[in-house]
Amino acid sequence: MLLNLPSITVTRVEEQNGNDYPIYAVPNTEPQFCLECLGTAFYGHGTKTHLYMDTPIHGRRVGVLLERKRYKCRGCSKTFSQDCSDINDNHRATNRLVEYVENNALDRTFTSVADEIGVTEGTVRKIVGSYIEKLEEKYQFESPEILGIDEVHLNRKMRLVFTNIGENTILDLISSRKKQTVINALYRFKSLKKIKYVTMDMWRPYRDAVSAVLPLAVIVIDKFHVVKMANEAVEKGRKDLRGQMTKDEVKQLKKDRFLMLRRRRDLDASQEFLLSSWTENYPLLHDLYHAKERFYGIWDSNLTRKQAETTYLDWKDSIPTSIRGYFADLEKAIENWHTEVFNYFDHKLTNDYTESANNHIKSIARQGRGYSFEVLRAKVLFTNAKHKIKKKSFKSGIQEDVLGYG
Ligand SMILES: [Zn+2]
Repeated sequence: MLLNLPSITVTRVEEQNGNDYPIYAVPNTEPQFCLECLGTAFYGHGTKTHLYMDTPIHGRRVGVLLERKRYKCRGCSKTFSQDCSDINDNHRATNRLVEYVENNALDRTFTSVADEIGVTEGTVRKIVGSYIEKLEEKYQFESPEILGIDEVHLNRKMRLVFTNIGENTILDLISSRKKQTVINALYRFKSLKKIKYVTMDMWRPYRDAVSAVLPLAVIVIDKFHVVKMANEAVEKGRKDLRGQMTKDEVKQLKKDRFLMLRRRRDLDASQEFLLSSWTENYPLLHDLYHAKERFYGIWDSNLTRKQAETTYLDWKDSIPTSIRGYFADLEKAIENWHTEVFNYFDHKLTNDYTESANNHIKSIARQGRGYSFEVLRAKVLFTNAKHKIKKKSFKSGIQEDVLGYG
């Protein structure tokens, strides 16, 4: 059988139980000098045979039983083995198998790759671990013009997601949302000056970190995070109303809550009829719904910043006292984030891409249950073709992996 590994000669092939190819082989070259002291005086010191897994052939797993001569140096008394440039001693595999794992394990599950090639899941994890380190070194943290900051719930924790809003790519996934972590992550961008805008949620550590690292960048609060607070107000009111309703009504309203949260323009005739029966019977629901709709209206408009600020104040004044309390959180948030919230009307930037980015991240997390955050992060950052990893670096990275003797 042809192994096609230049540094190895096959001596014997066994066909065993139909599943595996055990291949006996020896290295082709003899050493010219001691690998430790470069001395030329050394003598044979027996042989050692180790199993090195190789890429499958015809769907069968291939194990190379490589018999290597051992030598002992007269100069430094160190022992060393016959060199073999196609072998990765660290992973007990051929270099091309390591490369195969590197090219497959981030797109598939570790166990499926392990089963296919006949190594343990731990070996795959180990190969991927060192691969991730190499990718990390080569990864270009390209600065976007518009940086999106958001979060995703992953491995029982809120994680930070950086996106390039203009190009719709995920730039980084960071383990926590703490201010110092955000600052460190921002400093990894190649050219901070390129970042002109940052869209984010109303989360103070984000603003503090961005102000510290990018004092000139314009912060825009993502519209979605602003308007959703109006829906939260509706929900609070709806829950309060339950006491005045019959059991059946409570049940029905729970089912119909989506009508309250939906925009009027998105309702069909029957839904609108259903909604109006609720709002006619319950003035509170009527007031909540209309306050919510008018609030959304501001964010859907083409108003200038000044007009939007005025319209917002008018809207605030028009809220009936009976429902005022439900909008208190919204009012408080807009007060605390006034500049950043109304920056939206100057720049009309939104974080729309984040939702699909987050879905992408979550689907990867679902495929790879039990993976560490580092592996999930690598799967997100290094497997999407859109991400900027220099193809050349991949190859040279693999070449560098040819290991000597320890
Ligand atoms: Zn030596």
